[in-house]
Amino acid sequence: MVERRPVNIVFICYNLYMAEKRSYADRREELIKAVAKRRRKIKLLAIAYKGGKCQVCGYDTYPGALDLHHLNSSTKSFGIGDKGYTRSWEKIKQELDKCILVCANCHREIEAGITQPFGVIQRGKTR
Ligand SMILES: [Zn+2]
Repeated sequence: MVERRPVNIVFICYNLYMAEKRSYADRREELIKAVAKRRRKIKLLAIAYKGGKCQVCGYDTYPGALDLHHLNSSTKSFGIGDKGYTRSWEKIKQELDKCILVCANCHREIEAGITQPFGVIQRGKTR
């Protein structure tokens, strides 16, 4: 005599079996997309939090050309641009409070010592 199981139980068991069969490799692409989406969202939130424009020249055309510059590298806990975007928004805000928002050009000038970021940013005299 053959025992008959209700169809829905067999279906649930099949779904659980298939869920366990999904490996990281199967989900890799959707996980990468989800992380990239979160990074974009956090970056836009960070830009808005810092006033939405370069604090030196006022540039605000393309968010991708805006950088966060740590005013004091010794107080830097983590880089916002690398793994920073995977942290909680509260932790990110604490880090943002140690940064200024600058465009890529002004950032390079600050790194080169041409533009000096003080409390309120001042232009260097070499320009
Ligand atoms: Zn600028």
